[in-house]
Amino acid sequence: MVLAGCQASGGSAVTGVSVPQVSIPSSATPSTQVATSGSPSTTAPATTSSTAAASGKVVVLDAGHNGGNASHVAEINKLVPAGRGETKPCNTTGTSTNAGYTEHAFTFDVAQRVGAALTAKGVKVVYTRTNDTGVGPCVDKRAAVGNAANVSAVVSIHGDGSTSAGAHGFHVAYSSPPLNAQQGEPSTSLATTLRDGMRSAGFTSANYIGQDGLSARSDLAGLNLSTRPAALIECGNMRNASEAAEMSSAEGRQHYASAIAAAIEAYLKV
Ligand code: ZN
Repeated sequence: MVLAGCQASGGSAVTGVSVPQVSIPSSATPSTQVATSGSPSTTAPATTSSTAAASGKVVVLDAGHNGGNASHVAEINKLVPAGRGETKPCNTTGTSTNAGYTEHAFTFDVAQRVGAALTAKGVKVVYTRTNDTGVGPCVDKRAAVGNAANVSAVVSIHGDGSTSAGAHGFHVAYSSPPLNAQQGEPSTSLATTLRDGMRSAGFTSANYIGQDGLSARSDLAGLNLSTRPAALIECGNMRNASEAAEMSSAEGRQHYASAIAAAIEAYLKV
């Protein structure tokens, strides 16, 4: 990923519409099961209705980069729309740990794990890529996948590659200034929920970018082009030794995935 957001670009492409923030439709029907057993109520009903709130919703998981990108330079460097009147290369190779474990392998594996956890809760998961050997898709095509009207959340998964000494920790990026209503409160809420979920799982927020684990960005194509609630998580710094170790292990990736899945589920239940 590109480091250091350029917030100060004066592009005033904001579409002057100040649509009243319509919050995500909260799960309509509280289940009306009538307990037939005469036993006193337990804690089950609350859990049941919460689960139902996430069940059936659609989430797009966007695993950053792809395994074939490095060997398809021309295709990857082709410029595509990036929002705010800008263009960007179709895709990039991503970073890796110093030992050579690639970001594309990390993001693909974590996305699959997040998807498995969400699917088990009844969430419908759509992936922007379904293998780790292809090329792209381009960032604008990935955004288009997320822009289906029924998508409740779009989460892009990445690992960062900062070589600054001591740089470590995760951060969650969101589009700022927002270009549409969904990039406003719905997206910042998604980003904040992801940040809180990562912290709850014991992950440390970044000490080298953003603030309190959040990063307002105007330069990320996928976020700029999104018309649904969207956020991008940089799970950690792959150039940091201890984070590289966690990201390179299956147990570590499951740790990241469990935190992300729980946060997405929490967001869907609101
Ligand atoms: Zn990346």
